[in-house]
Amino acid sequence: MTTQYDAIVIGAGPAGMAAGATLAQHGARTLLLDEQPSPGGQIYRTIEESTPAKLRTLGADYVRGLHLAHALRQSSLEYLTNAAVWNITAAGDVYASHAGRSRHVAAQHIILAIGAMERPVPVPGWTLPGVLTAGALQILLKSSGVVSTGVFLAGAGPLLYQLAYQYVAAGMPRLVILDMATRANTRASLLKIPAAPNLTSLHYLWKGFRFFERLARAGVPIYRNVSNLVIEGTDKVEAISFRHGNKEARLPAHTIGLHAGVIPNTHIPRALGCAMAWDEAQHCFRPATDKWGSSSHRNIHIAGDGAGIIGARASEHAGHLAALQILHLLERIDTATRDSLAAPHRRACAAHTAIRPFLDQRFAPPGEILRPADDVTVCRCEEITAGQIRDVARAGCQGPNQAKAYLRAGMGPCQGRVCGPVVTDLMAEVHQKSALEIGAYRTRPPFKPVTVGELAALD
Ligand SMILES: Cc1cc2nc3c(=O)[nH]c(=O)nc-3n(C[C@H](O)[C@H](O)[C@H](O)COP(=O)(O)OP(=O)(O)OC[C@H]3O[C@@H](n4cnc5c(N)ncnc54)[C@H](O)[C@@H]3O)c2cc1C
Repeated sequence: MTTQYDAIVIGAGPAGMAAGATLAQHGARTLLLDEQPSPGGQIYRTIEESTPAKLRTLGADYVRGLHLAHALRQSSLEYLTNAAVWNITAAGDVYASHAGRSRHVAAQHIILAIGAMERPVPVPGWTLPGVLTAGALQILLKSSGVVSTGVFLAGAGPLLYQLAYQYVAAGMPRLVILDMATRANTRASLLKIPAAPNLTSLHYLWKGFRFFERLARAGVPIYRNVSNLVIEGTDKVEAISFRHGNKEARLPAHTIGLHAGVIPNTHIPRALGCAMAWDEAQHCFRPATDKWGSSSHRNIHIAGDGAGIIGARASEHAGHLAALQILHLLERIDTATRDSLAAPHRRACAAHTAIRPFLDQRFAPPGEILRPADDVTVCRCEEITAGQIRDVARAGCQGPNQAKAYLRAGMGPCQGRVCGPVVTDLMAEVHQKSALEIGAYRTRPPFKPVTVGELAALD
């Protein structure tokens, strides 16, 4: 028989942990599902296994994750780890694969707290062995304490500096940063620093300053205003060449960590048919949500970075807000209680996001990443280049979904997660339309791999 819940939360990052704890605290029967073996999400991954030395490497902000994980463990909600959600219906059915078996559960309300993914960075040579994303390198650090030596961290985004800082703190200062943020964006970003910064904004600015100061002390070379990035090699990475300012450089290399910011993980909301919006400042699609995180489907709520990139602390407060709205819809709290409980979370959310316009502008991805040159592979699964996408667009292909029929782009095992944003941008460029007009790949379940045996064993 299908187990019925008041609410199912998917994702045990800051948003999901906060939402789950609030729902359970008010007596809602709640299930939290996450594909990871322990709580924390991206930022607080493996936080429960932290030693003082690990916390020193990751940075003081990570202690917050311990509090959230503790509150989660203390709460009465049901929490299933290693549970990959592969299907959700708008009626509230959820299918998750756990320990080789698929479960079917259902709820009146679902919170998608599924976070963000790294934006693809299609530069020449990005498919060579030895190229990872900065996020993948950080996962190795958080999960296994692995720190690579002699790494080039290239692209545009705060995570490049965060990871470099963590590498230096772990005693591995042999790395090089290639910052592809443009000079124009760096200048323009200064005007977006809040005129009267609150304490929280000052904390973020101070954190950034400390990164630069620590990296300078460790002697980490930082090349700024980098463009024309090319990763060279035959069977693996051998060198990296680039332009910085007016100079050209070519350096031997073996490991590259690419990064161009994070974008909301929209695969599931799109499959559910949730209305989508285009975020111009962050250059990405995000689900359209109201101030409580409710989507265009009455019972589907989206909290945290999955609804638009707001960072870990704001995600936590967004999780509380979504939970309060569900408690209200379940008639467990009245309007006045909901609003008074929500007020401090709204204030905190605003404080933590005040710095976003500055960050979004400072680390805006450059054009060569968003719309790569013709010979660059865009769809890694089906080996389709940017030139092939442009060619079919010129031949009349109107959008990413039609490109599947022309080229099979987006039809490989990643289900278009990696090439999707780039294909949309290339089509928009050729047709001189906005990304919203062009649209994105249609997605459908299974969202995660599931065996035929598991499907057959379901009722
Ligand atoms: C690779 C990466 C590294 C990052 N590192 C940092 C950092 O060092 N510092 C920092 O300040 N910010 C970092 N960020 C940004 C930060 O992770 C987010 O701001 C914050 O974690 C958002 O919280 P969230 O709860 O919305 O999502 P997340 O923390 O991302 O949590 C989402 C959870 O949902 C789960 N999930 C997703 N889909 C499914 C599914 N189908 N089935 C089951 N579970 C699912 C995931 O396993 C994950 O645990 C990083 C982001 C990424 C993508």
